[in-house]
Amino acid sequence: MAYDDNNIFAKILRGEIPCKKVYEDEHTLAFHDINPQAPVHVLVIPKGAYVSMDDFSAKASATEQAAFVRAIGQVALQLGIVDSGYRVLANHGRDGHQEVPHLHMHVFGGRDLGPMIGRPRS
Ligand code: AMP
Repeated sequence: MAYDDNNIFAKILRGEIPCKKVYEDEHTLAFHDINPQAPVHVLVIPKGAYVSMDDFSAKASATEQAAFVRAIGQVALQLGIVDSGYRVLANHGRDGHQEVPHLHMHVFGGRDLGPMIGRPRS
């Protein structure tokens, strides 16, 4: 999947549309999902133009990659879901049902999250 500069997260990064920010550093931004699937549902995104984990791991600098991983842990700590537990998930491509073609890690928490993978759509 090619990177599309007009995707919604690119617009958030450019300040063209708002977000409810949770965390930010030089390389990473985290904000609340607009359609939360759990009491805590935050998206962590790199500021660079990467579509997926494979793209990010191949092209991002070690500093960007370290910042991304650190941000995910920081968000979990900041939102108080470490003791109760949480889930980190990224959807990629067609089979992953990725909607936004800018790498994002979902961080879910605040309730029992159930089984890891649901049934496919028929
Ligand atoms: P995915 O299927 O992994 O690509 O999920 C994309 C996620 O982005 C969904 O959970 C959407 O609810 C979320 N989303 C879409 N637009 C926005 C937005 N403007 N602000 C925050 N989250 C958004």
